[in-house]
Amino acid sequence: MVSDECRRLNREEPTLIVVTKNHPVDLASQLYELGVREFGENRVQEALPKSESFEALHPGSDVRWNLIGQLQTNKVKQALQFASSIHSLDRDSLLSELIKRTADLEVPLEVFIQVNLTEDPERGGVEPDQLLAFADKVAACRTLNLAGLMAVAGLDVEPAKDFERVAALSEKLVLQHPLASGRSIGMSGDYVEALSFGATHLRIGTAITGNRTN
Ligand SMILES: *Cc1c(COP(=O)(O)O)cnc(C)c1O
Repeated sequence: MVSDECRRLNREEPTLIVVTKNHPVDLASQLYELGVREFGENRVQEALPKSESFEALHPGSDVRWNLIGQLQTNKVKQALQFASSIHSLDRDSLLSELIKRTADLEVPLEVFIQVNLTEDPERGGVEPDQLLAFADKVAACRTLNLAGLMAVAGLDVEPAKDFERVAALSEKLVLQHPLASGRSIGMSGDYVEALSFGATHLRIGTAITGNRTN
């Protein structure tokens, strides 16, 4: 599906992150056997034990766990035990905690700044007009590698409208930080629109894994 769409748009394929939240480690293990190497999880409490069980099944594997949900500062230490990438960097307090906890890292941690596209501050994400100032602070940190932006399209708007805003913000961001060109946008319901607005990372759950709540 993604490949067809990329061919149609004559663009490169994005990184496909398969979101395994609410699914047991066995599913991640089966996906791994099928070649999946990027997993997405939204809660540290669930992801840390799952990643540990996964490691026991596939020792030393090359999978990357992407933390895509809101991260509480008191969970940063645990998050760093498994996450190769954090897509939800969205506020100063979290940035401070990450700086503190990554001080000894030799390879910088990949982070995406989450942008809030809604009017609701509870949804997480920096406000678009704060983005560039916040990005300067992130980029100044030696142990963090600013990869780009992450956003979730609002529920009551056309995803294309939201992704168009992300694309415009991303263009401004790369003027200041050329390497921060990532766009982590697009989920099961809106990946087609996301691809047409330059998604570099898709976070796909239910379209691949089906529904499950346990
Ligand atoms: C669950 C989740 C996804 C995947 O959503 P689907 O609609 O199942 O593809 C993507 N991004 C975030 C932040 C999520 O929490």
